[in-house]
Amino acid sequence: MNGRTHLAIGLTLAAVAGANTPWQFVAVGIGSLLPDIDNAGAIARPLENLLPRIIPHLGLVKTVDGVAELTSKLVRKIFGHRGLTHWPVMVGLAWLLTDHLTPLALYVALGWIAHIYADALTQHGVPLGAPVSFDKVRLLPKLLAFRTGGLMEGILSWGLWGGLMAIATRAALVFVGVRL
Ligand SMILES: [Zn+2]
Repeated sequence: MNGRTHLAIGLTLAAVAGANTPWQFVAVGIGSLLPDIDNAGAIARPLENLLPRIIPHLGLVKTVDGVAELTSKLVRKIFGHRGLTHWPVMVGLAWLLTDHLTPLALYVALGWIAHIYADALTQHGVPLGAPVSFDKVRLLPKLLAFRTGGLMEGILSWGLWGGLMAIATRAALVFVGVRL
């Protein structure tokens, strides 16, 4: 799945799980994009689209793109795409190691695990049992599994973003004192 869909899934789960501070949502967002650090496009593309609108003509896009691509190449070389960053056991380990540092570690872990299981719904699957078994597991029959960037993923993504907009609008109205 692409970065936009992963972000939508992570933020929706955060809302359902009762996240209520901006930092909790930011942490989930980071966690939901982090695993695809081995796939530069997924991280670089949203930045590439967004940055020129915010800071035009600064030449920053190329730098961000370059750094993302270099990091990605390095990580992919070492671990392979949907490698180490897509192992559920790594999420547990990272959470155990960082939980005492900040309560936000839980939210990063939530976004991260959501990413892995969302990828397990795609045709390529994910090595859910690693490092015991490196077989890629697909949680849906091949016919129903999502194709990255396909129509079904587009529908899911737009649906979730629509729901998130509704939740954000409601929260904003409550914040300014409108009774709903
Ligand atoms: Zn992924």
